Amino acid sequence: MPPQKKPRSNLIYLLIAALLFAAVYSTFFGTTSDIKAEEVSITEIQNFYTQGKVASLEIEGNTVTATLTDGELKKAFKAPSDTAKDLGFDRPDLVPLTIKDTANQAFWTDLALSVIPFFLILGLLFFMLRSVSASNRTALSFGTSRAKEFDKSQKDKVTFNDVAGSETAKEELTEIVDFLKHPKKYLKMGAKIPRGVLMIGSPGTGKTLMARAVAGEADVPFFSISGSEFVEMFVGVGASRVRDLFSKARKNAPCIIFVDEIDAVGRHRGAGLGGGHDEREQTLNQILSEMDGFEKDTNVIVMAATNRPDVLDPALLRPGRFDRRVVIDNPDLTDRLAILKVHARNKPIAKDSDLEVVAKHSPGFSGADLENLLNEAAIMSAREGKKTITQHHLEKSLEKVLLGPEKSGKLMSEEEIKVTAYHEVGHALTGYIMPFTDPVHKISIVSRGMALGVTWFLPDRDSVLKSRKKFESELVSLMGGRAAEDITFGSASVTTGASNDMEKATKIARDMVTKYGMSPLGPITFGEHHANPFLGKDIMHERTFSDDTAKLIDAEVSKLLQNALKMAKDILTKYKKVLAEIADDLIKKETISRKEFEEYFSKAKIKPSIGL
Ligand code: ADP
Ligand code: MG
Ligand code: ZN
Repeated sequence: MPPQKKPRSNLIYLLIAALLFAAVYSTFFGTTSDIKAEEVSITEIQNFYTQGKVASLEIEGNTVTATLTDGELKKAFKAPSDTAKDLGFDRPDLVPLTIKDTANQAFWTDLALSVIPFFLILGLLFFMLRSVSASNRTALSFGTSRAKEFDKSQKDKVTFNDVAGSETAKEELTEIVDFLKHPKKYLKMGAKIPRGVLMIGSPGTGKTLMARAVAGEADVPFFSISGSEFVEMFVGVGASRVRDLFSKARKNAPCIIFVDEIDAVGRHRGAGLGGGHDEREQTLNQILSEMDGFEKDTNVIVMAATNRPDVLDPALLRPGRFDRRVVIDNPDLTDRLAILKVHARNKPIAKDSDLEVVAKHSPGFSGADLENLLNEAAIMSAREGKKTITQHHLEKSLEKVLLGPEKSGKLMSEEEIKVTAYHEVGHALTGYIMPFTDPVHKISIVSRGMALGVTWFLPDRDSVLKSRKKFESELVSLMGGRAAEDITFGSASVTTGASNDMEKATKIARDMVTKYGMSPLGPITFGEHHANPFLGKDIMHERTFSDDTAKLIDAEVSKLLQNALKMAKDILTKYKKVLAEIADDLIKKETISRKEFEEYFSKAKIKPSIGL
């Protein structure tokens, strides 16, 4: 079936309608003149004729209509093979004879009758195909690639300027840009133009953006298709889409083909769970053979993006294929600030608002998260009818992105608020006293998302290496919440509010023992750990130790946690007065800022990070 586009299908409907009309017309109106005629046998008309009672005769197809001398109309049917002469109507000079040629009309009627059912069935089929699913709109064009082409002339052209940070990645890709711009330079040196560039990074780190920026910088067309689009509804479609995409690209060289989420097709072949992977395999094979099929000087570069490089088929990573790999990391503090600045360019940010604070607050945020954050702030500001986006809006939306939307209305009882306040101040106070913890930025008991309250510790910079002392301090401040509940309300009334703290603390303690060798068990790691948890292999880490060792590990972990809890209780007992003072204020104010928090201590002449 040839590819059919929308206008074509409209034409089909029009044709069906026209034929239907023709058929109806010719059956009902084609013989109107005979309606009044009385039907008789052909012999009767022959008799009238010989008796001279016929004034005129008309033969139309097989219908013979006679107008008698008295004005009456008689109609009869003759055999198709009989001519006027055969029937004895041989005196046209006396009785005028008109023979109407109906061959034409009959032809159309016949055609309509034979063709209409066919078209109706076709139409029905067409509708059925169309309604299979909304995504199958183009059911009849499934063989062609659906790559979106971003022409170089497009207005929203992306360049490296729009991609903040990621300096190393940009450096590596500058080379690709140069290949696209000046291929001759490299060919002269006998260098092969690279075929494939694989971009690796967590979701939202700007891989797609970066690929578009390369196209924008080199000023070449950009064909983008997502791996999942290859494997859609019909078997065999993936491979033919690949073929089509590459031939389109060859015609437009120099250009970039961008395969987003290539892991959808590029997984280890023959290693799937369950069946039905033939389709993906075919598609992958087609990509590989197309890439191999490039002439030496074909200036088409295939860029692909994935966040699961571990599952990719090794054949993809072979030299001559995606042999260049560019890792795009989650942004660090400076990159985050740069990304915020890029997205703040067309937003009215108030002069006194500080993007740097936002950047500091958002370790672990991806570029997409940061963009979302600024967007939330803009929406919030617009909703309040303000002209600019203030620091207040930025921090609010940061919290929103981080913790889920703020719950409106009073959901906590007074009792719960009190417990939450002491709990949070417990975290903050122990954190303040313990050395090596980050400064407290804000304490809040406004309930939002999952957490009832929240204490933010704001690092002055992203730390890469953490010391044992820092871990121990962190454990104490994590235990601070539970400890505060315990010493204020008694151990019988401790709540479930600390379950998240316990989880975090346990993970830190376990890592200290099994991963970082920070326990009396010595400098050894237990179990196989992977450097990149986002690669998804962490789930299946192997146990490489005996049951006895497992017991020792559990004992060490438990000791670390017990010590931390005891330390937290000791601190809070010692500073019980300050704890109560801050907690009571927190209940009134709901939030306490870093400055306010530190004032309590300067008033009471307690220095930070003094330990016990
Ligand atoms: P990925 O393809 O890695 O999942 P995208 O390229 O789709 O991520 O990024 C999503 C959005 O996040 C982009 O449209 C962009 O607005 C923003 N973004 C991500 N990284 C950056 C960056 N380094 N600089 C500017 N914006 C970024
Ligand atoms: Mg993407
Ligand atoms: Zn807590």
